[in-house]
Amino acid sequence: MAGRHQIGYPIAMRQSPNPRPEPAATAAAIDPTDPAAVLAGLIRCPSVTPQEGGALALLQALLAGVGFAVDRPVFSEAGAEPVENLFARLGDSGPHLVFAGHTDVVPPGNTVDWTHDPFAAEIVHGEMIGRGAVDMKGGIAAFLAAAARYIRKSGAPRGQLSFLITGDEEGPAVNGTVKLLQWASERGERFDACLVGEPTNPDALGDMIKIGRRGSLSAEVRIIGRQGHVAYPHLADNPLRSAVQIAEALMATPLDGGTEVFQPSNLEITAIETGNASVNVIGARCSIFFNVRFNDLWTVEGLKAEPRPADRRGGHRGTPSSRKAGSRL
Ligand SMILES: [Zn+2]
Repeated sequence: MAGRHQIGYPIAMRQSPNPRPEPAATAAAIDPTDPAAVLAGLIRCPSVTPQEGGALALLQALLAGVGFAVDRPVFSEAGAEPVENLFARLGDSGPHLVFAGHTDVVPPGNTVDWTHDPFAAEIVHGEMIGRGAVDMKGGIAAFLAAAARYIRKSGAPRGQLSFLITGDEEGPAVNGTVKLLQWASERGERFDACLVGEPTNPDALGDMIKIGRRGSLSAEVRIIGRQGHVAYPHLADNPLRSAVQIAEALMATPLDGGTEVFQPSNLEITAIETGNASVNVIGARCSIFFNVRFNDLWTVEGLKAEPRPADRRGGHRGTPSSRKAGSRL
């Protein structure tokens, strides 16, 4: 069964059409010391990856207004959209703290399912609603407001303070933080400490501090069969029969049991697509899309080298402990 099926692991990123653009608030109308005002301004920028959406322009104006020198490098490479980024710094000597984050957001999905416009930043029962409010325009707004309050009260800090913000975190993430760090390094920037504003606190501010992030691998398994009429299945090759088994095999065996500092790695199937709208035709092809969030036991290369589900059906069902001992790790 497995031999006739093609299984590939290209990075698969799919995006919804960019949502209706909302005019971004002008920086002049926003008090940089007010995190709610900054957050509302950022949410009203429809910065769905790779669109800048006005978010970095707003951030640039606000940072420049409190004394930061701001650069907006654009990175590109073949096969990916060029993406705008931002680096802002204040001070030129002493310990260097950098705040790292991203202004891009995932698509809102079907806006009919939202109770409020995802790019309107409405406040409901004391909470601001909007795409990216938590991940992670809220973090950026909080850090900017804290910096602006300090500067307004005490002047420029004695050390150095920077913002390292990308617009390519939720998408392919090839024209974002890695290139921005290389760009900063080539300019002679050296950082002593970094705070990433990703949302990690489940209950209260500061209740969880992480020392790193899990890795992410998105993949697509393509299963090619042969089209036919459901009344004559022996003349067709239904790819869904294999897809069901492959999907089950992908999820069946835990990748590991977690480590001292990270939870267990997880593989999650995000979509199974056939493109078949008919009820009486066996489709010719099927794709399984999945994402792996992996801990420090794995690398992208190690995951790609992991036996395919078809191989596993052939008898290989490695245990987490045997994989830990493998050279791939
Ligand atoms: Zn994020």
